[in-house]
Amino acid sequence: MIFLDIKEAKKKIASLRKLIERYDRAYFIENKPEITDQEYDLLYKKLKKLEDEFPKLITPDSPTQRVSEKPLEGFKRVTHSIPMLSMDNTYSDAELREFDKRVRKNLGKEKYEYVAEFKIDGVSISLTFKNGKLVQGATRGDGTVGDDISSNIKTIKSIPLKLSSGGTGLPSLLEVRGEVFMAKKWFEKLNKEREKNGEELFANPRNASAGSLKLLDSRITSKRHLDAFMWGVGQYEGVDFKRHEDILEYLRKIGLKTVEHAKKCGDIEEVTKFCGEWQRKREKMDYVTDGMVIKVNSIAQQKKLGRTSKSPRWMIAYKFPAEKAATELLGVEMQVGRTGTVTPVAILKPVHISGTTVSRATLHNFDEIQRLDVRINDIVYVEKSGEIIPKILGVAKEKRKGNEKAIKAPTECPSCNAKLYREPGEVALRCNNVSCAAQIKQRILHFASRNAMGIEGIGVALVEQLVNKGLVKDCADLYYLKSDDLRKLERFADKSAQNIIDAVQNSKEVDLGRLVFALGIKHVGQKAAWVLADKFRSIEELKKQGIDALTSINEVGPVMAESIFNFFNNRKNLEALARLKKAGVKTEMPQRAKKTLLDGKTFVITGALKGYTRQGISEKIRSLGGEVSSSVSKNTDYLIAGDEPGSKLDKARKVGVKIISENEFTKIAGEK
Ligand SMILES: [Zn+2]
Repeated sequence: MIFLDIKEAKKKIASLRKLIERYDRAYFIENKPEITDQEYDLLYKKLKKLEDEFPKLITPDSPTQRVSEKPLEGFKRVTHSIPMLSMDNTYSDAELREFDKRVRKNLGKEKYEYVAEFKIDGVSISLTFKNGKLVQGATRGDGTVGDDISSNIKTIKSIPLKLSSGGTGLPSLLEVRGEVFMAKKWFEKLNKEREKNGEELFANPRNASAGSLKLLDSRITSKRHLDAFMWGVGQYEGVDFKRHEDILEYLRKIGLKTVEHAKKCGDIEEVTKFCGEWQRKREKMDYVTDGMVIKVNSIAQQKKLGRTSKSPRWMIAYKFPAEKAATELLGVEMQVGRTGTVTPVAILKPVHISGTTVSRATLHNFDEIQRLDVRINDIVYVEKSGEIIPKILGVAKEKRKGNEKAIKAPTECPSCNAKLYREPGEVALRCNNVSCAAQIKQRILHFASRNAMGIEGIGVALVEQLVNKGLVKDCADLYYLKSDDLRKLERFADKSAQNIIDAVQNSKEVDLGRLVFALGIKHVGQKAAWVLADKFRSIEELKKQGIDALTSINEVGPVMAESIFNFFNNRKNLEALARLKKAGVKTEMPQRAKKTLLDGKTFVITGALKGYTRQGISEKIRSLGGEVSSSVSKNTDYLIAGDEPGSKLDKARKVGVKIISENEFTKIAGEK
C-alpha cells in the first residue's frame, strides 16, 4: 500500500478518470473496445478506492458517480424551454412525395435538400450540458413538461458526463435531444429473467426502456444496459449551426453518439430509395428502428417552414410497415380469460420479429380460424408492430405436406371442464362457471395489475400456485394471506414473501377508480371505472344503482350498465367486496367540498400549458368538482388556452365560451 498525499491523489485520480472516459468512449460510443473487461474493472476499482480515501476529491462527473446509491422519492418536473414537438407520420412513398410538395410550395424557388436518418423506437430525452458538463436529463413528457430523470440518464454509459472539446471551446449551454433505447439482446435477456421471477413482461424494447428510465432506484436502471443516440438540439448558446448535418457532425465531435446511417439526400426520390433500402435491411440491426426521419437540412429553411401547433413542417417520419415473418404453427392452446372467454392462441416455432422473439400469436376466435383455414403444422405468416399482440395473417397453403391437422373448437372448458357456450350475437366461446380456476387466475392478475391495484410481485407463476393450492379463491383472499402461506410455496424466500405481503397491504389505499377497474366488471375499462368512482364516490353507492341511473351517465351504455348491475347483484361478488372492506381496503373517496368555484363547471383545454401536464390539469379540475371535456360545445363553461391553441379556440369564440389563460385558471383554482 502506497500512501499518497492529497496532491498526488488528485493527479492520480485525474489520470484514471481520463483513461476510464477514453475506454468508455471506445466501448460504448465507437464500438471499438480497447481493453478487456478485467483491465477496465481494475482501473475502475483503483479510482473508487482512491476516491474513498479522499472523498473531498469526488466530483459529480467522475465515472464512479454514474449510479447513485440512494433511491429517489419521486421525479421533479422539468419545463422544456423549447417544446419537444411530435412528428407527423407517413406510411408510403406517395405520402412522402406529398410532404415534399408542401415543402416546395412553402420554400418557393429556393433549392433545398434533406437528411434522412434512422428513427429509433425508443424514448425521447433532452440532455442539458452547461460548459460541457451534463447537468440534467429529462423525459419528453407531454412535450412541454417532462420528468427530471438525471440520476437514471447518468447510468447510461454512452452518454458522457463531460463533453470533449475537440479543439474548440465548449458552448456555455447546449441542450441535446435524442432517444434512449434497449438493444434487442438485452431486452430478451431482461424478459427471460422477468419470466423466471414471475414478473410482468415488457411488450417491446421501447416499453422496457421507458420503464427503466422511470425507476426511482438508479441502481436497477444501471443494470438494464440502456443506450442512447442523439438526433438534434434544443436551446444552445455560444455555438451556431447552419445545417442539420452540421449539428450531427458537431455532436459527434464533442463525444456524443449520434443516430447511425444519416444520409444527405438531394431530393425526395433519393429519400424514398434510401427508406426502401433500410426497410429491407433493418431486421439485421441489433436495435429496433420503426422508420426513418426526414428533415430539411438548412436551419434557415427549417425556420421559414415553421410548425403547426403539433409538429414541425420541415420534418416527417416515414414508418416502416409492420414486420412479417413465416413460421410453423406447432399447436393451439385454449386460453380462458377473466370473463370466461375462450381464446385460441397459436403456439409457434419461435421467430424474430420487430426486435422480439415471437412464439405465440392470437387467433382471436374460431370464426377466424375458419376464415384463415389454418391448420396445425401449417407454415403461417405472422405480423407484429409495436404494442400490438402478434397476429396470424394467413397460411402458406402451397407449402402443405399433407400432415396438417384441422383445429377443432373445444366443447368443454380446458380449465374446469364446464360445457362451453356461444352466446347469440357473439363469436366467442365462453365458460360460464364463476369458480373456474383459469378465470380466477386471470381475475387476480387483472386485480393486481399496474393500472388496477398495482400490487407488485404478483405474477403468473405466483397466482398459478396460489390458486392451485386453494390459498386464493378471489381477490379479497389476497388481503388475508400470511407470509407463512407464501413460504410454503415453491421458490419462495422469506424476504420475497414479506415483500408480497407488504405490497398487498400497501394497495389498500389506492384511489377508488383503480379499485372499480380492478374488480374486473365486464365491459368496464379504465376510463369508465374512473367516471363511476367520481360520480358515486363509494362502492356502497355504486352498488345501489339501477340500470336507468347507470345508463344516464354519458360514458355508460346499456350493455355496460347491465353488466355493472349484474356484477353487484351476484352473491359471490358481494361477499368478496365485504371481505375487501373488512380487510381495510378503501372503498370510498372523500366527498367533494360542498361548493367550489369549479363545481359542475365544464372545461376544455387547448394548446401547450406551462405548469401542468394535460393529465395533471384534468385531475386538478376533477378534484375541485369540475368536468373536463375534449370538445367545445354550448355546454362548455371555460376554455383554457395555452400556447399555440388549436381550432378549439375559434370554436369557443364562435359559441361564446369564456376563454381563460393558464394563469387565470390557477387563480380560479385557488393556487395563486
Ligand atoms: Zn372454466
